[in-house]
Amino acid sequence: MEHEVATPLWKQYEWVVTLLYHDELNEVGSTRVSYNQHRVGCLSGRRRQVDVLLQEPDGTFSVVECKKHGRRVGIDTVEAFLGMVEDVGAARGLMVAPDFTKGAKRRVAARDDIELVVLDWQNACASGQSYSRTAYCPKCPSVPVLSGQVPPLIIWDYLDGMMDADFLFAQYWQGYCIKCQTEFIYCQSCGGLLEVKGEDVVCEECDITYDAALASIIDK
Ligand SMILES: [Zn+2]
Ligand SMILES: [Zn+2]
Repeated sequence: MEHEVATPLWKQYEWVVTLLYHDELNEVGSTRVSYNQHRVGCLSGRRRQVDVLLQEPDGTFSVVECKKHGRRVGIDTVEAFLGMVEDVGAARGLMVAPDFTKGAKRRVAARDDIELVVLDWQNACASGQSYSRTAYCPKCPSVPVLSGQVPPLIIWDYLDGMMDADFLFAQYWQGYCIKCQTEFIYCQSCGGLLEVKGEDVVCEECDITYDAALASIIDK
């Protein structure tokens, strides 16, 4: 039996926030939303961790930091975030938390490059779970409904189409599990979920071979 360790709430919060931003903004050729990235600080020269990175085609980017605490996020945390945003040279910084103190809000009220986003945990979970094209990762342990835990959602990153050997056009989605990062292809023709193990992914149902190397999705 595999021992299952409960995922800490702050991490689940990060997943949900990633999913929400991804659902809202991610588009091929436009904003690219990725979870848990790194950027080297221009000032510090140190590798800084970014919870959610919003990358624009012109090379500019914004950083999202998630704070799931039992208490409201205060001025010290927000000031540390300001420093990080400045260090990595982000165009904008968004801090997402269930609530902020008045002082924290006042501290950045005049800054149009910093946004404090209030996102309640329950609402975040509800939105995450009603995500339209949701499929659950078959490799991760399933999570009981109403447990408050985030299910192993697959983030659909990429819609593409290809011509098969018989000149039939097939559409597919490519994505990855936000928990275990396994990549998948969703065969639009039959609705099958295919795990990406090599470059060629075969849907036996449709007799189509997808080229998974076309889209390299995650920065592993
Ligand atoms: Zn998974
Ligand atoms: Zn298929």
